[in-house]
Amino acid sequence: MIKASDALHIVLKNARVLATESVPLLDSLGRPLAEDIVARENLPPFDNSSMDGFAVIASDCRQASETKPSILRIIGEASAGNVFTRKVSAGQTVRVMTGGVIPRGADAVVPIEHVVEVKGGEVRFTHPVTPRQYIRAAGEDIRRGGQILKKGDRLTPASLGVLAALGHRQVRVFRKPRVNIIATGDELVDVERKAGPGQIRNSTSYALAGYVKSAGGVPRILRIARDNAKSLQTNLKQGLASDVLLITGGVSVGKYDLVKDILAGLGVQIKFWQVNIKPGKPLVFGTYMKTLVFGLPGNPVSTAVTFLEFARPALLKVGGSNDLLPTRVPAILDQPFSKSDGKRHFLRGVAAQREGEFHVVTTGIQSSGAMSSMSKANCLIIIPERATGVRKGDKVEIEFLS
Ligand code: AMP
Ligand code: MG
Repeated sequence: MIKASDALHIVLKNARVLATESVPLLDSLGRPLAEDIVARENLPPFDNSSMDGFAVIASDCRQASETKPSILRIIGEASAGNVFTRKVSAGQTVRVMTGGVIPRGADAVVPIEHVVEVKGGEVRFTHPVTPRQYIRAAGEDIRRGGQILKKGDRLTPASLGVLAALGHRQVRVFRKPRVNIIATGDELVDVERKAGPGQIRNSTSYALAGYVKSAGGVPRILRIARDNAKSLQTNLKQGLASDVLLITGGVSVGKYDLVKDILAGLGVQIKFWQVNIKPGKPLVFGTYMKTLVFGLPGNPVSTAVTFLEFARPALLKVGGSNDLLPTRVPAILDQPFSKSDGKRHFLRGVAAQREGEFHVVTTGIQSSGAMSSMSKANCLIIIPERATGVRKGDKVEIEFLS
């Protein structure tokens, strides 16, 4: 049995980043970038007005006041998209709209709220003007040559906006990991079938497919394998044709828990079996050429926890992401908890913020078979190996699930 941190280390060491592909900008949302993005132009590309108003030469109005206004003559207009091409000279002003190019010669903008237009094409300025006021300078947002996004960043809606502003119609991202999912067990029936005596529906494959999708992978649910060597050999062999193979069940110490040995027989190099955690102890991990193989325990909560703690970081790494591990935040446990098995526990919790701090309680029944404990939870509560008792009101660490 190995420590959780060692197990994660081994998994990540064996995870290789996939090849890259170029996709249309809109298809890149949520995917990790496969290249650093360096700005090939300035943003904004030109000096422009941040207000509707008048472009002026600041020195014409430096001392303008209610009692000593400056009066300038309007010589034209610069709206967004329509450039005023002549030069502004002393005594002149150009009407500008937000986003309009600052005309040559002008070096400040006066908002329309601060002026009075007088008849005959003149404007009266009654506030002192400082050079560059209300001008958005070329390159003040993004400077040409600067690094804007880096390899491995997951593309957000805002980054799509930045890429569009810089003229990227296509984006280089990592190929999405293909993930095969195989449930094992003589008791399992698929969701469209009626469960007979002693049978239960295959639920973990669907939960896993959901987790895989949320982590940027492409899940494929394969046929259920039965608890005999022949069925397992056939199905697992098929499953190995993927970037990641997730198997559930059959990894414990029961008479029909054959998965580990069958995998080894198929040529999978088993890297570890059994981790010092609860739930999820029977976890198996191995590699087959470039394919990562996880034998996750069959109890639905164990399946979910071991996926989230070990397979998800690997999937993210394979998919090119920088950010592999869930963020941990401190929270106050509003109930006592005790254990003495020296394992790292992952409790299903519901956390909420009160007076600036997170408070967390468990979802109730913590049996590893209790699906509801996982679906009600918004976080996992981590109780470290060494801890024995946690008192009500003690600080713990939690990981949010979404
Ligand atoms: P195993 O790890 O195969 O010993 O299974 C442990 C428990 O999880 C048993 O009660 C199984 O019936 C249950 N189980 C295994 N696989 C699944 C699955 N795909 N969906 C729902 N429950 C399962
Ligand atoms: Mg089983």
